[in-house]
Amino acid sequence: MERCPRCERHDMRHTTRLLTRSAGGRSFTATIEIRRCETCDWSPLPVDAILAHDRAVAIQLALFGPVSTETFRWLRRALDLDLEETSRVVGLDLEKTLQVEHGHATVPVDAWMKLARCVREREAVDVSEASRCA
Ligand SMILES: [Zn+2]
Repeated sequence: MERCPRCERHDMRHTTRLLTRSAGGRSFTATIEIRRCETCDWSPLPVDAILAHDRAVAIQLALFGPVSTETFRWLRRALDLDLEETSRVVGLDLEKTLQVEHGHATVPVDAWMKLARCVREREAVDVSEASRCA
């Protein structure tokens, strides 16, 4: 059995854990595989599984919405865009993008749709195609 880096016992086991994210008034739960020490309960953060789940959440939001400040942020982060890049992609000036990002302005539906389309395109086409969005 694998050795625990914290307590050094050979007690690391594979198990599962529920991972839940809330966005757009919905809850997204996945069962992810983790490794956990039976002795000291140490468990490394399953970063890849968390990122994959966040990506799946972003795809659901890009497909079904709703349009909101929160989902705008989810889509932007899923595309790994900073606010300047986001303003270029969605066709808003930086000031307006900042207001939208912080909930000080209503999210323009067409801007949200552009981000959502980029998320959907990124998942469906190769990197060279998706780069049109960045
Ligand atoms: Zn341990």
